[in-house]
Formats: sequence, structure tokens, C-alpha cells
Amino acid sequence: MFARAPLVLLISLVAAIVALFVLAESVCPHVAQHLEPLVLKISTQPAVMVRHVRVLDVNSGQLSLPSDVLIENGIIEAVYAEPVPSSVQIEDCAIVDGAGGVLMPALTDFHMHIGFSDGEPPWTASIFHPVNSAREKESYIYAGVTTVVEGSVSPLPGILSGRETASPYIVRTGKQVTARGGHPHPMIDALIPWPMNKYVGGKLTVQLEDFVAQEETVRAILKDGSIHHLKIIYDNAIPTGSPKLDLDSLKLAVGLAHSYGKPAYVHVGSVKDVMDAVRAGADVLMHVPFVDTFSHEQIKELAKSRAVFVTTSQIWSWTSLGFDKNRELTDLEKKLMPERTYEAFTDSWAEVFKNFRSPYLPKEYLRETVPLFIRNIDTNIRLLYEGGVTLVAGTDTGVPGLVPGASLQYELRHLISLDIPVAEVLRSATVTPGKLLSDSDRAFGEVKSGNNAELILVRDNPLEDVSRLESISYIFTQGRVYQRFD
Ligand SMILES: [Zn+2]
Repeated sequence: MFARAPLVLLISLVAAIVALFVLAESVCPHVAQHLEPLVLKISTQPAVMVRHVRVLDVNSGQLSLPSDVLIENGIIEAVYAEPVPSSVQIEDCAIVDGAGGVLMPALTDFHMHIGFSDGEPPWTASIFHPVNSAREKESYIYAGVTTVVEGSVSPLPGILSGRETASPYIVRTGKQVTARGGHPHPMIDALIPWPMNKYVGGKLTVQLEDFVAQEETVRAILKDGSIHHLKIIYDNAIPTGSPKLDLDSLKLAVGLAHSYGKPAYVHVGSVKDVMDAVRAGADVLMHVPFVDTFSHEQIKELAKSRAVFVTTSQIWSWTSLGFDKNRELTDLEKKLMPERTYEAFTDSWAEVFKNFRSPYLPKEYLRETVPLFIRNIDTNIRLLYEGGVTLVAGTDTGVPGLVPGASLQYELRHLISLDIPVAEVLRSATVTPGKLLSDSDRAFGEVKSGNNAELILVRDNPLEDVSRLESISYIFTQGRVYQRFD
């Protein structure tokens, strides 16, 4: 009887939250707002011929002469050396005119969270602005991002997700393994209004006090056949001094993931976190460290390891967009973010702090520590690139300030601004994630026959001007073809 009390409490809490949302939907214009669709699904035919298109080889940076590409049932059937004569008929085949355009691999965002944020900053976030995850997914497609790697499960109950029209392929994870009270809990408490923070926190993680005693809970995550990787949190910097897993627990978690044939994707904050995680066998570091910067010896050690880093250069960009106003929003961000989010970023610093007081992310932390974090990330990305360490483009969209899809496009621009060659940056969002994530069911990241047709048709060669990557006319993914409404 007594043991059931917390369960009853939890059920009533969830019911109350759902009821609140349903109520909000009927009274609040923001929630009920009708959204124009972003993309249109075209062609129900099993075959699609993209005609007279130049194909970009992201490995060599070479562009082919105009030719044809045949896609059948979502697989690239043929990349022809010369245009197919129009006398050749293919049954049930739709034609996409690719004249003047460039066909290239679609983009991957290697770190994102669905159902957390449409970009809205914490000072205006409210329980009355629930995230429309169907819209998030459609935004990724609009931006040419057809594969996304989850950093956590989505906390949204299905009833609130919206009606799904288009979605990227989602590389799934399960509950995150973290220390009791460790990241992301302080951040969730700072950014998500009560009582949603309690609900979200509960859905997101297993909080370990004693790994050996709680090993079964980690095994339960790994036994879920639908998950691709185990996400482990090993960081105490958000805010400084928050609880962190001990090194032995990290090693046990990585080893356990590997024993189930799953890679260990580790969230890190500092250089020491990185070195511990890499020595423990971590496969992917979900961030470039932001607390401090690498030494040259450390970079050499990382280059010898198989470690892969997700760039996530914008995890603090909500502070610079909102407080310092030291960068402009891109056209794509403006297009894909809700109007109230755009308005929230025009608030002045003084206005913002009237509405945002958090014991978890105090003003001094945001004003003094975070700007240093932003500089450290850029320095570390440069060091890793120069040292020959593998980088994949990813955003951590789901943290405030990042707009699904548009954020990955911005990430690529930002990497180029750090003097990484455009071709290298394009590979970090196409062929490199393709190599890491392809399996016998799904191979992608290059335009070659036999691969899944995860492709975008862009207006012109993005190697010459990367902003062209934002001008997409067709998106091919999971056997479907989408055209943008522009
Ligand atoms: Zn994340």
C-alpha cells in the first residue's frame, strides 16, 4: 500500500501535465497555431530518375559532368557515366529534372535531442509552449538533414508530438547513464519549467549511485534491440562541481556496452573527461571539451586512438544570441524558428535577466564562464583538426538557441570559419558519419550505386560557396522524395 503511493503520485502528476497541455491547446493561440507545411512528398513510384545532374564526390571533391542517377526502392541503382537516351523507358519511373543542380549525400547531425526545444531560449520557455516534434522532424528534412543521432530519448508523450509529415532517419539511444543528480539534471532544472523538469528528468536517465549494485538497470537499456549506442554522461561542469560518475563506473559502462556489441557515446566537458573516456574505450565523444584546451601531447595520443569527436560548437550559442547579440541569425534559422522564439532573441540583456533567474546557471556563470567555454570549443576543434583526429558535425540541437536542421547548416559554416577546408567540413556531415553508422541494412554518406539514396539536390556546387548548401530543391530519404515549399 505504502509502496504504491509514489506511483499513484507520479501517475496523477503525468495526468495533470497532459490535462494542462490539452487545456493549453484549446486556449493558447501559440499552441493551436496552424503551421504551413515545409516539404511536400512527391512521387509514389518505386523508381526515380534524376536527370542531367552533376554528382559531387565528397571524397575527392570532384564534380561529374551532367548525367543521370537511377534510384529504385530507396537504393541508388545506377550512377550513369552518360545521360540515358530518352528512348530507354523504365517502368513506373518518376523524373526529377536535375539540370544545373548538384546531387550530393544528404547531411547527418551526429548529436541531437528530439522533443526538447524548437530553439526557444530559457527566459521565455513556458509549459504553454510545448515542442512540436513533428515540426522539428520536418525542419531537419527541409534543411537536408536526413540522418540524426540521438543524444537521449525523446521525453514527449506521443499525444503532444504533432502530426508527423516527414522525418529524418533516427539513430536511437536509450536512457542516459549518469551519476545521481549529475548532468543533465541541473541543466533540465534550469531550462525546463516546473513540473515538466521532473517529468523529463525521470524519462531521460538512470542515475547510478553504485554501478555494481545497479548493473542490471544498465543491462536493461542495452538489451533493447532498437538502440544503436549507449549514452554515458561523464562531466561535472554544467554547472561547475555537479556530480559525475567515478572512473570505474565509466569503465564498467563502456565495457558493458561493448559486450552487447554497442558503441559507447560519452558526453564530456573537460580535457580530463576526454582522456579518461578515450582510455576507457569510448567510441565517440559527444562534445569537443569546453572547460579547457588540449595540450599537443594529448592531441597526439587522441590521433593514435580511434576516438571520434562530435563538433557541437554551438551548445552555448543561446547566450551569445540572447545576451551578447554577437551573431546574426541566418535566413534558414529565421525561416524554421517560431516567431515567438525570434522575438525572444531580440530581448535586451536587462530584459532577459528580469525573466531568467536560475540557481543552476547563475548570472556570473553565464557572463564569465560561458564565453570562455565558447572560445575553448573553437580552439579544441582547430587542435583536433590539425592533429588529424576524426571530427563529425553535430549540434546538440535540443539545447536552447538551436533550430532543428538550420543548426547543422550553421555548424558547417562555423567550422569553415575556423579555417577547416570546405571539402573536409562537407565530409564531416556526409561520408564520415556514413562510415560510422552504415550497417548491412543501411549504407549512406556517398552517391554510389548500392548505397541507400540519402541525397539532396542543391542549386550549385557547395564547394565553391557553402551557402548553396541551404538552397535545396529535393531531398531523398528512406525511399521517399520531398520537394521544398519555398
Ligand atoms: Zn546532447
